[in-house]
Amino acid sequence: MKKTENLSDWYNEIVELAGLTDKRYPIKGMNVWTPYGWKLQQLIDGHMRRYFDETGHGEVCFPRLIPENEFAKEKNHIKGFDSEVFWVTHAGLNPLDVKLLLRPTSETAMYPMFQIWVRSHADLPLKIYQIVNVFRYETKQTRAFIRVREIHFFESHTCHATFEDSEAQVREDMEIMEKLSKNLCLPYLLLKRTEWDKFPGAYYTVGIDILLPSGRSLQIGSIHEYRENFSKPYEIKYEDEKGEHKYVNQTTYGMSERLIGAVVAVHGDDKGVVIPPDVAPYQVVIVPIPAKGSVEEIQAEAKKLSEELKAGNAGNLRLHADLRDIRPGNKFYEWEIKGVPLRLEIGPRDIANKAVTAVRRDTGEKMQLKRDQLAKEVVSILENISRDMLSRAQTELDKNVVDADSLDDLPEKIIRLGWCGAEECGREIEIKTGRSILGSNMKEPGPRVTKCVVCGKESDTAVYIARPL
Ligand SMILES: [Zn+2]
Repeated sequence: MKKTENLSDWYNEIVELAGLTDKRYPIKGMNVWTPYGWKLQQLIDGHMRRYFDETGHGEVCFPRLIPENEFAKEKNHIKGFDSEVFWVTHAGLNPLDVKLLLRPTSETAMYPMFQIWVRSHADLPLKIYQIVNVFRYETKQTRAFIRVREIHFFESHTCHATFEDSEAQVREDMEIMEKLSKNLCLPYLLLKRTEWDKFPGAYYTVGIDILLPSGRSLQIGSIHEYRENFSKPYEIKYEDEKGEHKYVNQTTYGMSERLIGAVVAVHGDDKGVVIPPDVAPYQVVIVPIPAKGSVEEIQAEAKKLSEELKAGNAGNLRLHADLRDIRPGNKFYEWEIKGVPLRLEIGPRDIANKAVTAVRRDTGEKMQLKRDQLAKEVVSILENISRDMLSRAQTELDKNVVDADSLDDLPEKIIRLGWCGAEECGREIEIKTGRSILGSNMKEPGPRVTKCVVCGKESDTAVYIARPL
């Protein structure tokens, strides 16, 4: 199956061939996390956890059931999720007095508690996060990691005394995203969504979008400014220094297992997936290349090599010596599908030369490395792989964002154009092109003055449009 020929079929096949997931569970859109896929997710979680902890967020874990009456408090929010929530209506044979739903996200689970927790300005800011599963009955075609009905989800929720403070939180979330993008080698756009495309209940939404090789965009996360939109219906108030009661200003930041889908789609190739070193379950695989009569000697040497590397790195490298009794060619093939960043081969000639043969997964480049400096060399090669993966993906993104001054003959790319901001013109852009307005760039404002492609009026921001997956 070739990625370049049919991205969608390639993706569906490769996630299972690589051992990232098993889609045969008897509920559509609910897949089984296999050990390799779960390890990858845990490593991504580890980075997020570190960034949230470093910025003063506390980790929590809320119940996954939410009572209907709490869910219904913010009207736009309930409307936005109405068609995709799973309901729990019975306990045994008896109908429940108050129906419960499986959280599609946790605003309505947390905010009744925030109302109790927040009392005075001294309780602010309140910054928490959780990494849990959420449930959404997706009606579009399901796809592993990208569109599933039980979703591994990160969500941070914050309360602040002032709007300015909550705006500063949005900026901090953007910094966290920047760090995570380096771990995943994923360049992205931070785009402020239109009024009709923002999160249900949000004051505004910043979508985090990446480019898929098909030219489509994929939203991998979002940051929301709620202002007082939730604190009013949930009565989350604090007493300020003067004894006045005020509503808190809130934000959230959410991402999910879709990050894995993005990594697979962006970095994979015809040989399989390519996993960035920072999140690779195995960063290095050692494959012995036995010769006749020296099988045991080479096996022993491969084991020794693994010990040397662990010692040289104080054990931080995630490595695996593949000592199975199968042909090396089969091992190469398997680890390439699984996307291990670096393969080390050791055979009789390598031993004689006090060297190791190294092969990069991302470029296929083969190198001879000196055995006595191996640990240091491996670390530096892994760093180069990360840097190169990110820069190749960045080049691809840059190449695929193009400016347009009319709506005719648009290429299958992300298009940047002028829009005056009027909903009427915006709708026309979307209908005429069959694409969505993703929004204006929060990182780089872009050309300052531009003309609306529909009405010709001058506008001071460009917007990005694309076909979202
Ligand atoms: Zn216009």
